[in-house]
Amino acid sequence: DFGRTADALGLKVFAVGGFVRDLLLDEPNLDLDIVVEGDGIAFAEAFARDHECRVRSHEKFGTAVIVFPDDFKVDVASTRVEYYLEPAALPTVETASLKLDLYRRDFTINTLAIVLNHGSFGELLDFFGGLRDLREKAIRVLHNLSFVEDPTRVFRAVRFEQRLGFDIGKQTEHLIRSAVRMGFLDRIGGPRLLNEIIHILEEVRPFPAMARLEELDLVKFLHPALKIGEETGAVFERATRALHWYELLYTGKPCSEWVVYFLCLIRDLDADAFQGICERLGIPGRLHPLFTEQRHLAQGVLQRFQAFARRKMKRPRNSEIYQWLLPLDTEVLLYLMARLESEEARSWISVFVTRLRDQKPLLSGEDLKVLGVPPGPLYREILEQLLLRRLDGEVVTREQEIDLVQ
Ligand code: ATP
Repeated sequence: DFGRTADALGLKVFAVGGFVRDLLLDEPNLDLDIVVEGDGIAFAEAFARDHECRVRSHEKFGTAVIVFPDDFKVDVASTRVEYYLEPAALPTVETASLKLDLYRRDFTINTLAIVLNHGSFGELLDFFGGLRDLREKAIRVLHNLSFVEDPTRVFRAVRFEQRLGFDIGKQTEHLIRSAVRMGFLDRIGGPRLLNEIIHILEEVRPFPAMARLEELDLVKFLHPALKIGEETGAVFERATRALHWYELLYTGKPCSEWVVYFLCLIRDLDADAFQGICERLGIPGRLHPLFTEQRHLAQGVLQRFQAFARRKMKRPRNSEIYQWLLPLDTEVLLYLMARLESEEARSWISVFVTRLRDQKPLLSGEDLKVLGVPPGPLYREILEQLLLRRLDGEVVTREQEIDLVQ
């Protein structure tokens, strides 16, 4: 149907980028990007009128998003060339043809386009050898200045290589190593660098990409003290398992995967280095408490749990587990699971998440009033004590709680 709208307007329209790449690789991809030769916004509006969709457009960039009634979204771009005012600056937009548009893309495998107009629907356009590189399983840039133009592509190269099981081409790897040597990566702004790291940490298997970053000497751009070694691999592996476990609980409480892996990544950094990496990446303010106070609390819990597990002491009481873990967000709890080698210690956290976290005492404030307890801060304390005893199995029924209060 995109073809019909385009035909009616006398425009050419193409599916491009990751969608075409994944189509040819037989990988699922629901992110459809289309490029219109001409005015993409006018195209998106005409399509939306005929199909009861909404459109959000960005005049400045000549782009639009078509939103279908079921929330399916399609990104529409106008053919354009982005020229860079200086390395690592944001691109400026100018109108030009499809081939020039594709020339500014990161890798050859992302430059394939499929015609959507009716006359030649399905025709594959391959200007830069993308099909060959898909067959050869190679990540290759289009020209030698690619990483100078946009150093974030270095991280994208590693991400695609590891996700698709491809290899970065020889010349492309050489260009990456030159960019590293010449310090171009220092020019990436904090938020853009963080964005690339988040993308990597949200891959199905983030560790191989992190290990490859280490191998290419790229990790130092996050922080010089950061090292990715075998232990990181084991911690990531347990983080993956903890995340799967949590997903299967369907708690309805969201959990940010990258945050869990990020905590694993920076687990050994001291306070100064930690501060440094947060500043370098411009970690958003809302995450600061999680990365500072909670991380600190988690460190204490870790030591206690490790001591319990090592000395084969009796497990901590439920009320202790509850009090230690209650201040921690889900991301920090899963991070703790990733840090603990002892399966038994991990089970204390899973018990907290599945059984303890949402417990309430059977009595309420109303009940305390009826029992003649004078209103005031005492209420909170009593209810908390009741809850702790309930968690330890010391009180089970309402009557027992009433007895205790009396
Ligand atoms: P994913 O499956 O991770 O979404 P994708 O290929 O769809 O992969 P996006 O980040 O959504 O990746 O980007 C869409 C397209 O825009 C890519 O196919 C790529 O060609 C192009 N692109 C994205 N970032 C850059 C960049 N930094 N430099 C050049 N081209 C880029």
